Amino acid sequence: MTVTTRFAPSPTGYLHVGNLRTALFNHLIARKAGGTFILRLDDTDPERSRPEYADAIQEDLEWLGITWDRVEKQSGRLDRYAEAADALRAAGRFYEAWETPTELDLKRKKQLNMGQPPVYDRAALKLSEDEKAALRAERGAGVWRFKLDHARIEWTDGILGDLSIDAASVSDPVLIRADGQVLYTLASVVDDTDMGITHVVRGSDHVTNTATQIQIMAALNHEAPAFAHHSLLTGPEGEALSKRLGTLSLRDLRAAGVEPMALLRHMARIGSSQPVEVAADLDELSEGFDLSHFGSAPTKFDVADLGALSARVLQDMPATAVMDDLRAAGVPDDLAEPVWAVARANISRRAEVADWWALFRDGATPLVAEEDRDFIAEAFALLPDPPYSDTTWAEWTTAVKDATGRKGKTLFMPLRKAVTGRERGPEMADVMRLLQVKPKL
Ligand code: GLU
Repeated sequence: MTVTTRFAPSPTGYLHVGNLRTALFNHLIARKAGGTFILRLDDTDPERSRPEYADAIQEDLEWLGITWDRVEKQSGRLDRYAEAADALRAAGRFYEAWETPTELDLKRKKQLNMGQPPVYDRAALKLSEDEKAALRAERGAGVWRFKLDHARIEWTDGILGDLSIDAASVSDPVLIRADGQVLYTLASVVDDTDMGITHVVRGSDHVTNTATQIQIMAALNHEAPAFAHHSLLTGPEGEALSKRLGTLSLRDLRAAGVEPMALLRHMARIGSSQPVEVAADLDELSEGFDLSHFGSAPTKFDVADLGALSARVLQDMPATAVMDDLRAAGVPDDLAEPVWAVARANISRRAEVADWWALFRDGATPLVAEEDRDFIAEAFALLPDPPYSDTTWAEWTTAVKDATGRKGKTLFMPLRKAVTGRERGPEMADVMRLLQVKPKL
């Protein structure tokens, strides 16, 4: 059987880091097995789904290099869901119910007051045909609920291990709304079966859904796929991230200059017992990927980690991979290699190469301590005009040392600050070699 996974976002907003975790896990599982990865757009809600979000989802995944074998849209599969609904009706597992949200709320409050779990009481199952007809005449179509079999639902979860959920503790799920809209719980079951999904990996907020979906699949005579539920992300202090996910969209991270590979390496490893590895691409990342290394505890995510991880990615990147960025920064093509080779070790966002190029091209505003002013004036007088070469720095510092008697840190540090305007940066020999203008006070 071909390993087949899917990532199933609803196109109702932009993807965020939480979604990415799900997408990546499913992608890596399929990739490792040489299987199939499907992008499924859960767009059955016509009011909230938007084509521009569907486009944005694909764009964000493409930015990360997460490719898919095909796209499926739930909105194009409504006939299949209607057939499944008929099959559930025929099997006696589907019933219509007419309670209003307010009535349901009241029931729940009563149950809670009596110390009972707020599970739907199945009052609709006790309605006579006459009562149903009267409700239909008065309130129109009802919602359709799946009648759970009150037994324990058990499965071995790929991350959480052996799980057992008492179906009696769960309300019979609504699968079709009063307006006829098929809900995700049913659509997903039909899709997973029709599309031959072998592994479903999603967030642990779906555990109860999985329990009910296992029963729906059985009622439709479908075999259930393997399920795994990854933990949800929290902030660095363990605080809930769900409310902040809006600010952690993939587009925002991209705009902030986060390197795709840094994000992917991080996401493939946080929450697992494995260290972040220096995988060069998704293929390499998939080789070491294994769900069994992940735990059930909430996973801490700190967006600040992505800066250092991006810097690490840039350090290994060849100039050929950033030619567009180098051109955008104004670096002439013949200097692309050397400028990048020097700049890449000193940046955490590729756009920062523009700052280093500006420095090499125009020079910097010197950073000079009051007590070093005369020293720097003397040193600059000893520097010839460009072009400079590999040996300029050594020759110049030797001349300055001979003239001033300074050596070591008191010689090199003031020169670095005067030439680059910064306290830190690349080897000065490299800076001098690339410098296009003579520095002046
Ligand atoms: N559209 C669902 C969601 O985004 C998919 C869940 C699933 O993977 O089954 O939560």
